[in-house]
Amino acid sequence: MKKVRKPSPAERLRRMHDRLAAAYGPQHWWPAQTPFEVVLGAYLTQNTAWKAVERSLANLREAGALTLDGLWSLPLVDLQELIRPSGFHSRKAPALLAFVSMLDEEFGGSLETLAAAPTAALRQRLLALPGVGPETADAILLYALHHPVPVADEYLRRIAGRHQLLTPQPGRKGYEALVELTRQAFASDPPASHARFFNEFHALAVAVGKAHCGRTARCEGCPLASDLRLVGKSE
Ligand code: SF4
Repeated sequence: MKKVRKPSPAERLRRMHDRLAAAYGPQHWWPAQTPFEVVLGAYLTQNTAWKAVERSLANLREAGALTLDGLWSLPLVDLQELIRPSGFHSRKAPALLAFVSMLDEEFGGSLETLAAAPTAALRQRLLALPGVGPETADAILLYALHHPVPVADEYLRRIAGRHQLLTPQPGRKGYEALVELTRQAFASDPPASHARFFNEFHALAVAVGKAHCGRTARCEGCPLASDLRLVGKSE
């Protein structure tokens, strides 16, 4: 009898994308009207639910601060007050102003000019800013600047852990392993489609995480449940 090859973790992740896309459809991320709003959202959503971010963005919109000039003209204390709903406002406000300052001084205040920099150099520059970790840097790269980089988050870490896609299991410091696995999953797809796939996959991982794979896994009815058989877990 012909032996059936077990799919690799990257192949399984690629199939997970297809199952999630079939179950949930296009996600239309990131929820923002402009690339600058994406940047603001990427900072504000750190350790915070998106509903709270929406309240901060609404405050900024009302204050005319959803543009580079608008944000730049705000005193620090006012900015802190406007973004208070999304938490950690005393840390996030100076971090946002540091981004705006970098954009102004090094890239002529233009997100297009920033986006034209090579991906690796740009990622390093973003990571050197205060308050920017890998997830925030990659979210800005992908969703605001349209560079083909994967984004990983807590939901993907849970999915990869529960489906035993990585050895050792991804802990708090497993971010780079998760993005590398995602990169491998889409490596056979045309390079021109990578940004679109990474965009959609991150949004789909959040969708299944919210619906099924939170702190407690609710596997019944989950679009990814059939994959659990590969690791000897029941659905
Ligand atoms: S809820 Fe269960 S089946 Fe769904 S992603 Fe999480 S572990 Fe997998």
